[in-house]
Amino acid sequence: MTTFSDRLQDIAATISAARLTSPYQQEVQLLAVSKSQPAAAIRAGFLCGQTRYGENYVQEALEKQAALSDLEIEWHFIGPIQSNKTQAIAQHFNWVHSVDREKIAQRLNDARPEHLPPLQVCIQVNISDEASKSGAGINELELLAQKIWTLPRLKLRGLMAIPAPSEDVDEQHRQFQQVRECYDSLVRIGFDLDTLSIGMSNDYPIAVQYGATIVRIGSALFGARAKKSTQIFHENLPVTNKQH
Ligand SMILES: *Cc1c(COP(=O)(O)O)cnc(C)c1O
Repeated sequence: MTTFSDRLQDIAATISAARLTSPYQQEVQLLAVSKSQPAAAIRAGFLCGQTRYGENYVQEALEKQAALSDLEIEWHFIGPIQSNKTQAIAQHFNWVHSVDREKIAQRLNDARPEHLPPLQVCIQVNISDEASKSGAGINELELLAQKIWTLPRLKLRGLMAIPAPSEDVDEQHRQFQQVRECYDSLVRIGFDLDTLSIGMSNDYPIAVQYGATIVRIGSALFGARAKKSTQIFHENLPVTNKQH
């Protein structure tokens, strides 16, 4: 059995090793993806020094945030965004990685409370071109970035992507390369970006080689997620790369 703290150290060591092969020399932040994990697991992680958590479902996140309001956690929303959830997201998160259309950007901007700093956002780009996946198309990025740039309550930080799952390492490289090119072309146009949110449990060492500044890691940190209905929460699940 390994503990959260062991896994945190392993992941940090893997990130450090991968950074040595990255031409970008970037700082890499670990975002712990805590969907389906109970508040107690986040609290335990926080005590190990992990302060950034990513959540995919608004209701689930709000419940955990209420239970953890005594901790200075940085909350990142990383799931698909429905219009009717923008207000709760704008009020309760520090970051949103999954902005993929103008309407959502506008609504987040309008709902961001004045007493909070601007919401830090990434545009989610759909590089795998599957109709079912969320994310802006590559050729929509520039317009969407321009739109966000005009919104005073949002701060555009960069791009996020979820490549189509693949066991093929060449394919993983190809997809991260594509996200990297999207990012570079926005920077060339003149957008002042500093965030590339790519890399999950199965592929984060490769993502770091392409300049990932945030890796979003769930199962490699918390253990495999059980199916929602049969979930048994356990803080010391053994490490596995299997997601389901
Ligand atoms: C679940 C999820 C992750 C983490 O996935 P793991 O494979 O468990 O590391 C990262 N990003 C997003 C958007 C997710 O939904």
